[in-house]
Amino acid sequence: MEQDTIAAVATPVGSGGIGIIKISGRDALSIAAAIFQKTGDATDGSRTTDAHLAAAMQSHRLYHGHIVDPENGRVLDEVLISAMSAPRTYTREDVVEINTHSGQVVLAATLELVLKQGARLAEPGEFTKRAYLSGRIDLTQAEAVVDIINSRTDKALEIAASQIRGDLKQKVEAIRDLLLESLTEIEAAIDFPEDVEDIIKDGKAVAVIANKAIEPLKELIQQYKEAHILRDGIKMAVVGKPNVGKSSLMNRLIQNDRAIVTSIPGTTRDLIEETLNIGGIPVVVADTAGLHETDDPVEVIGIQKTEEYINRSDLVLFMIDASEPLAREDHRIYETIHNKRSVLVLNKIDLVNNKDGPELPDTWEQTPAIKISALYGEGLGALKDLIVKIAMGDFQLEAENATIPNLRHKIALERCLQLTASAVEAINNKTPFELIAIDIQEAIDALGEIVGLTTREDVIDQIFSRFCIGK
Ligand code: GDP
Repeated sequence: MEQDTIAAVATPVGSGGIGIIKISGRDALSIAAAIFQKTGDATDGSRTTDAHLAAAMQSHRLYHGHIVDPENGRVLDEVLISAMSAPRTYTREDVVEINTHSGQVVLAATLELVLKQGARLAEPGEFTKRAYLSGRIDLTQAEAVVDIINSRTDKALEIAASQIRGDLKQKVEAIRDLLLESLTEIEAAIDFPEDVEDIIKDGKAVAVIANKAIEPLKELIQQYKEAHILRDGIKMAVVGKPNVGKSSLMNRLIQNDRAIVTSIPGTTRDLIEETLNIGGIPVVVADTAGLHETDDPVEVIGIQKTEEYINRSDLVLFMIDASEPLAREDHRIYETIHNKRSVLVLNKIDLVNNKDGPELPDTWEQTPAIKISALYGEGLGALKDLIVKIAMGDFQLEAENATIPNLRHKIALERCLQLTASAVEAINNKTPFELIAIDIQEAIDALGEIVGLTTREDVIDQIFSRFCIGK
């Protein structure tokens, strides 16, 4: 598949040590040669011809030299260039990377020269899309590239790294291969009904499908259920009447557990959100306004947003002041959140002599409670353990269970499971083989969607639209 040549700045906007311009496609080497003066070449204008230079640069080597505007001989920057010939490259096309000094002006000027020589500005994710279209990686590995870039915790990175290695792809392909084999057998049974006994003897086919397709499918779906939170994170709201200590807790958590955040396009931010790393779980927590009755129109908006945020949250920390009796407002807030997954946080325990805190209504007992002092940091470890416990149950991420499908994969896996189970039932019921074959073919297609063999064009476009330009 011969494609045009694309180029983009691959490093983030801003100044830094180096910036990289990436070029991929059939003209990558000649374009680079046209604007690059290799150290050691004559500097009196009698440059090695472009074609000569392109040929002289060995693949997968770094060359030192200067970027020179071929129209006027102006030197833009001192650079290192790596020229990598197809197919041992990211895209499997010829690729050139120009390491310039990183500054927006020099990068823009160099990119402009590259575009003038005939390259086209790459679309978001187009380099990775080419890697996928050339068959170097499958769709799950392409998705893992974005996951790696957006990882907010070590565990999310571990899951993405497993996926980019191809662990999920291999598991899905193994199930798909097995179903393809079964389909071949069933089609043979359609064509040669006299041999049916041999082919689907004594429920052997059923046992094989059950063990080698249904079980692994169930396992992957279960992995999603238990651990997708590690990659997707949870949204947590901290609510309570004014002055109970919400901001104090937030500040402490942010100080100690703030996650390294990359901006993810498309996230709306009506409240100020922070991402924490609590026991490896990315926890997005909003600094919510106090949920309390007020006539102040500005506060009313804040409170509405808080209520919306609570509805969207996976977990609510409902905070009360343990040093005071409960107020009417505490009861009202509890009514708002008691149907959500929540933790009752009794704060200011340092002010309570016997550490018992206020008397709580019996109906509150269903909500797990924890005593803390946000001011002195007491009980925060236990609070975090409880958050992890509620979010993850007993799941522990290990190398062998790091294959965690994402939501798109999980939906396809569930469809495949349902079709495979229905095929098994049909075999047991001696349903005509033609009908069984249809179920199995659809089950195979469902798996093909995961790895990118039968994925709809719009789904593929949507996946790559999440990338940044230059990746
Ligand atoms: P918010 O309105 O719920 O956000 O409450 P703040 O975090 O602003 O806290 C209100 C007041 O309570 C501040 O003076 C805090 O220093 C104080 N406070 C917060 N947490 C504690 C605590 O654990 N113990 C004590 N003694 N005071 C606290």
